[in-house]
Amino acid sequence: MMHLCAQYFFRVNVPPPPALDELLQFYDENWLSEGYESAEEETRYRAYGRDILAKFWEIHQEYFRPPIATEKLFNIDIDGVKLRGYIDRVDKLPGGGLAIIDYKTTRELFTAEHLENDLQLTLYQIAAEQLWKLPVAQLTLYHLRSNTACTCAPRQPAQLAQARQLVSEVAENIARSNFPATENQFCPCDFPEYCPYYRHQYPVPQAELTLPLPEPASVTAETVEEYASLQKQIKELQSKLDEVKQQIISFCQTQNLNRVYSKEHAITYKMVDRTGFEENAIRTLLEQSGLWEKVLSFDPAQVKQLISDESIAPNIREQLGALRQVISSSPQLWLKKRASEEE
Ligand code: SF4
Repeated sequence: MMHLCAQYFFRVNVPPPPALDELLQFYDENWLSEGYESAEEETRYRAYGRDILAKFWEIHQEYFRPPIATEKLFNIDIDGVKLRGYIDRVDKLPGGGLAIIDYKTTRELFTAEHLENDLQLTLYQIAAEQLWKLPVAQLTLYHLRSNTACTCAPRQPAQLAQARQLVSEVAENIARSNFPATENQFCPCDFPEYCPYYRHQYPVPQAELTLPLPEPASVTAETVEEYASLQKQIKELQSKLDEVKQQIISFCQTQNLNRVYSKEHAITYKMVDRTGFEENAIRTLLEQSGLWEKVLSFDPAQVKQLISDESIAPNIREQLGALRQVISSSPQLWLKKRASEEE
């Protein structure tokens, strides 16, 4: 609704834009009552929308210049992939470049990081430059709730190339029907019976199945419960084992014994030293001998730290991040208590 009103306000060929009364009348005439939990909630949202629109009108009527396009449909070609979308608004700036504006009704204002990495704006820049053969000079996410224009400089060639690459990769995955399920806050969605995370809980009626079930289809609710119960027993046993172990160690220490016996077993107690090196002392010695470089070894944990270290140049951090790859894959299980959501 708010998008529609912003579009109505800007979709004029010559100034002036619609008067405030006209804009609010358009809003009232097109208001949709669906989706609210009560009449009271609808009234509150409706009044809130009117306030936002009144402020919107006040800000934009003063220096109004008709945009060169609103709700502009584009069909572009990105390295052989057809991409289609709509740009909310495109202005021509006095300097000759294009300004792209995308309206958002999200609750929170956008951070600078979000603005500078927003893929939608990057693709809009590619589209606008293909459509009009003019450079994009400004990208804006317009936060309607606070009537705040969050603007940044256009994307540089490297970021545009990255977005093109992403489009190619996504298109390739679509062509291969490669759609890995990605859990998010809206799960389960309307298709849980096809989802590898929820399918077990929402089985498709046998008659509707078009794909054969993986063989063997033998994990039942009992199997899940058995796994959970065994995990619980392991935890309890581990705790009991730690307790008995400490009891034996304390006994051997106080009685000065190195071994204790039952009829069938013997347990030996021994202090085991783990040796290591004090880094500074080693470093001083090896640096003096010119051998320090030889003992430096690759430490993945330190690389992770470098990637999140803001004192390191962003391009180096990006390059390090891009080198991350899957080294090995091993199946794992996570047990979660459904009622209390405890891991
Ligand atoms: S339920 Fe599965 S398919 Fe649906 S959104 Fe969640 S992960 Fe994706």
